[in-house]
Amino acid sequence: MILVGNGKIITRDDNNSIIEDGCLCIEGNIIVDIGFTEEMKKKHAAEEFLDADKGLIMPGSINPHHHIYSAFARGLSINNYSPENFSDILEGMWWRIDRLLFLEDTRYSAYATYIDCIKNGVTTVFDHHASYGSVEGSLFEISQGAKELGVRTCLCYEVSDRDGEGKMRDAVKENVNFMHYAKRDSSDMQKGMMGLHASFTLSDKTLEYCAENIPYQGGYHIHVAEGMEDVQHCLKNFDKPIVKRLFDFNILGEKTLAIHCTHINSGEMELLKDTNTMAVHNPESNMGNAVGCPPVLELFKKGVVLGLGTDGYTSDMFESMKVANVLHKHNSGNPNAAWEEVPSMLFKNNRIIAERFFEKPLGVIEKGAYADVIIAEYDPLTPLNSNNINSHILFGVGGGSVKSTIINGKILMKNREILVVDTERIMARSRELSEKLWRRING
Ligand SMILES: [Zn+2]
Repeated sequence: MILVGNGKIITRDDNNSIIEDGCLCIEGNIIVDIGFTEEMKKKHAAEEFLDADKGLIMPGSINPHHHIYSAFARGLSINNYSPENFSDILEGMWWRIDRLLFLEDTRYSAYATYIDCIKNGVTTVFDHHASYGSVEGSLFEISQGAKELGVRTCLCYEVSDRDGEGKMRDAVKENVNFMHYAKRDSSDMQKGMMGLHASFTLSDKTLEYCAENIPYQGGYHIHVAEGMEDVQHCLKNFDKPIVKRLFDFNILGEKTLAIHCTHINSGEMELLKDTNTMAVHNPESNMGNAVGCPPVLELFKKGVVLGLGTDGYTSDMFESMKVANVLHKHNSGNPNAAWEEVPSMLFKNNRIIAERFFEKPLGVIEKGAYADVIIAEYDPLTPLNSNNINSHILFGVGGGSVKSTIINGKILMKNREILVVDTERIMARSRELSEKLWRRING
């Protein structure tokens, strides 16, 4: 039994309650009690009292779209790489990296990324993986990394025709193998989906092949209309918009993640809503790739479940929240826009998304929820209450504020020290492997 107390509990429950001088009690992997610190100390004989030191005690963040395979791109410079558009970025950088990743590279990309997630208070990660250099076993390398670190995760491999039919089949097989594995795993820490790259690298035959092979309704995880290239390709080759094409292949549904949706029309939004498909917005990525700004406010108005992700740009969900906040004000020319939508994406909809995959409540501090809890250092300079907490977080809290991270009842980071692995050794090996990868890319 662990007590986490002496802090402000930001519950994120239906009333968005805040408990001053709050304390929660964890038994096994579940939050079993919540109250005031002194009262809880008397009530429960705990082995450990984790002191929040008057900071914030919050549910861990959920990232519904990440790319572990992009980890080794940090600091990389590619010879003669000067992209003029999104296709150039994919072909000149990301596909070059993923074709040269060996299994150990994938393993260390996973370690490094999950460590970053723990440091930033992210406790559930949905990853979209590609390593066409070595497809078979790649999801199991990531899975092993997640297991050693203790991070809750949902994995898939992005199927694509871009490297030929053989590799496409290997990718489908990797998804199928991992989905079977995840189904047998009773810890509820790992889930599997069928990953798809994007409409423009998937033929009709390939989509049929995926549908024939998906072992159960675990859902699809696919980039949708990220850049205009994808949209034009679909209209030209299939004479319909992308979301309609996915609908026709029975890919949409309540377990499917449609990522980006930058360039979709209002009929496509209706289709997402009618099929209860989830969408995920990644503001930094969209701005960095200069692909355009998705119709986030409209998707919201239509009632689509829209989450907030990072697309590999960062592991810090608070950073993604800050960028989304300014992007939609800037884009709509309305300084009053997105106050409600952006926090709802991160704190409400990401929770709805995660709960479609994992069995117990996540992203909330309440009795019976999974003990995925973080402590952030924060001493508010103005009054803090449940009406203005999101403004405090937006302007005063970042991933670097996170001091301690608990996932599934286990303390993974305490006072900024990672307890579960030797991070120095992992980072040293990760630097060696990435240097070799960079030589292969430029060699
Ligand atoms: Zn992505």
